[in-house]
Amino acid sequence: MSWFKRDKPNGEGLPKVEDNEKRVRTEGLWQKCEGCRQIIWKKDLEANSSVCPKCNHHFRIDAETRLRLLFDGDFETFDDALATSDPLRFVDKQPYSDKLRATQSATNRKDALVAAAGGLDGREVEICAMEYAFIGGSMGSVVGEKIARAIDRCLRNKTPLIIVSASGGARMQEGAVSLMQMAKISAGLMRLDEAKLPYISVLTDPTTGGVTASYAMLGDLNIAEPNALIGFAGPRVIEQTIRKSLPEGFQRSEFLLKHGMLDAVVSRLEMKQYIAAALKFFA
Ligand SMILES: [Zn+2]
Repeated sequence: MSWFKRDKPNGEGLPKVEDNEKRVRTEGLWQKCEGCRQIIWKKDLEANSSVCPKCNHHFRIDAETRLRLLFDGDFETFDDALATSDPLRFVDKQPYSDKLRATQSATNRKDALVAAAGGLDGREVEICAMEYAFIGGSMGSVVGEKIARAIDRCLRNKTPLIIVSASGGARMQEGAVSLMQMAKISAGLMRLDEAKLPYISVLTDPTTGGVTASYAMLGDLNIAEPNALIGFAGPRVIEQTIRKSLPEGFQRSEFLLKHGMLDAVVSRLEMKQYIAAALKFFA
């Protein structure tokens, strides 16, 4: 196989063959690209901000990695301990409280968003990054409250706001409480607008449902990573409703840009410089 011959210093990371089992141990070192199906050296992928060096496929990244890519250096996080009270005592296949506990211990987060402040190209900014691994990055009361508090800090400190979305939409387990976050955040964003403070929305794969229907599309600039799935309802629901088949590439960044729903499609490798230039322009 071709990847076996990859030239790496000292043979580091080359698959090791166990004598007795003849089993090739490659776990954790290589990653198959969903875009081009090629096997990529994981360190190459990480060094390239988790963008495939061969086909430009943007892998999903967690909130922490996202913040490290955007901030100049250290940053301060806020409201890390904020957790939902499960207001509806919701139970589906399992109690929501059990699901929360399991997800919290698996992700080491209390909910699906990290709110942080720090420097971006020398300018103080607030960045909220969504954590897709936490129940599909769903927006419940905690996500809403953390963004609302980030907006308050922006107003107090006169800093711009950037929200990086990665979300399946509103969190069903919190019912109407999660839907109310859409109005709460939208009202907060209007106050930012009145204070003439910029808000940049970055949409990543996937950004859907109530998040698209509220803050993800309310930026002074709405910019997306390449080929991100962006929409409100899923394609199957739409096809069943309008009884027509949907065009190729429907609900992907490039399609939305072409149809005037986005301001730009920006590679993750250029995202920081792009945001820095935009903030300079707004200032
Ligand atoms: Zn690829």
